[in-house]
Amino acid sequence: MVEESFVRTESARCLQCYDAPCMNACPAGITIPRFIRMLASGNYQGAAEVVRTCNPFISICSAVCPTEELCHKNCSRAKIDSGIRIKELHDFAFRYDNGKPINFESNKKVAIVGAGPCGLACAFELRKMGILATVFEEDAEGGIPATQIPSHRLEQKRLVEDLEFLKKFGIRVQKKKIKPEDLESLKKEYGAVFLAVGAQHSKQLGIPGEDAKGCYPASEFLKLAKDKEITHKTLGDDVLVIGGGNVAIDSACVAKEIGCENVTIVYRRTRKEMPAWKSEIEEAINRGVEFLFLRAPVKVVVNKGKVSGLQVQKMELKGKDDSGRPKPIAIKGSEYEIPASAVISAIGQEAPNFPVKMENGKIVVKDFKTSIDGVFAGGDAINGGMTISQAVGDGRAAAHAIFKYLGGA
Ligand SMILES: Cc1cc2nc3c(=O)[nH]c(=O)nc-3n(C[C@H](O)[C@H](O)[C@H](O)COP(=O)(O)OP(=O)(O)OC[C@H]3O[C@@H](n4cnc5c(N)ncnc54)[C@H](O)[C@@H]3O)c2cc1C
Ligand code: SF4
Repeated sequence: MVEESFVRTESARCLQCYDAPCMNACPAGITIPRFIRMLASGNYQGAAEVVRTCNPFISICSAVCPTEELCHKNCSRAKIDSGIRIKELHDFAFRYDNGKPINFESNKKVAIVGAGPCGLACAFELRKMGILATVFEEDAEGGIPATQIPSHRLEQKRLVEDLEFLKKFGIRVQKKKIKPEDLESLKKEYGAVFLAVGAQHSKQLGIPGEDAKGCYPASEFLKLAKDKEITHKTLGDDVLVIGGGNVAIDSACVAKEIGCENVTIVYRRTRKEMPAWKSEIEEAINRGVEFLFLRAPVKVVVNKGKVSGLQVQKMELKGKDDSGRPKPIAIKGSEYEIPASAVISAIGQEAPNFPVKMENGKIVVKDFKTSIDGVFAGGDAINGGMTISQAVGDGRAAAHAIFKYLGGA
């Protein structure tokens, strides 16, 4: 936690930019210069209100929002000396939050499927417009921050604070799984439905042996670890994690935390192309995670029904793929085996199937509208997995689209 003296000095450095680049880079749409101005003048309560009005997940975002990739990275002050420490100022402001409830009602009915950051941000924004939505959740309230973000990075009490805040606004969550076939009846009962179902299905590797004991999709592994249902004994000491994103990094760090001796990330490109945030990669290196670059998995080696190794193939980068990144090409005859006691695959996530138009594991939307009239979607379900602030921003924007669809107030 930063000191008040730091907050005063740091907030006074803010240039109060016109068309502030920090704000444009904030997916949750926080009016950053405004709350910084309030901090500079000592109006801490006002600063907290500004942040909270934009983002109901102020507490968890204070801890895990990748500001170095978003607002901080874009701060104009960096061109003069150093960027404003927006994350620390945000964290300070949130301590003054008092979560005043809102009391106005509308009889419009909206169903929200999924109580992750996106669904709850949508419920919060609708509440501000007088609509008390019904939120359905099959698992834990809070979505991925509740079930998968490792405890060493996000203390549970932060999520509890944010969920308590939402309760003060009257937002309640019903424990229920909405099945794809329920969508039609839900649509009939409610004026609009918002699918904020996330993208928690790990993509399959599509190689022989991946169903063997000791092979885990990253989402399942992280959930088991968070619930303390997986031990060092189950995992063994030679853990391979396949993938180059933040989920791969989190999985590797968690395996280390559990006590596994050798944890290696296997990635088919090089460190330069890894989609994981720089700070996350550095954290993994500090924790003793090793990296094996330019290797792709070919098959999981299984002995008596359990993982005993991974056959990999060497790769080289040539030309560009559809995403514009260097394309990994397999080198013929370069296969070899690496011993492994567990293999965790973290090669991407998909949204659950619903009877709306979907492409590449994502729900297709235009201005948050799906292919079915009155059914909207946002968050990881439409982007395949980004950040909490992006999910919050989507939830808020979708709430406005829903409000307009329902004919306004
Ligand atoms: C391991 C990991 C670490 C991450 N770390 C960070 C980080 O440090 N910082 C950051 O900003 N972002 C991080 N992210 C990304 C961030 O957590 C997600 O972008 C964000 O949670 C997406 O919110 P969402 O509401 O769209 O989806 P989710 O959080 O996935 O929530 C969707 C909810 O819908 C529920 N649901 C799904 N189907 C149904 C159904 N049929 N019926 C009822 N309920 C249903 C699910 O149970 C879930 O609770 C991380 C992601 C992962 C996987
Ligand atoms: S970009 Fe930096 S200096 Fe400009 S308003 Fe935002 S925080 Fe202040």
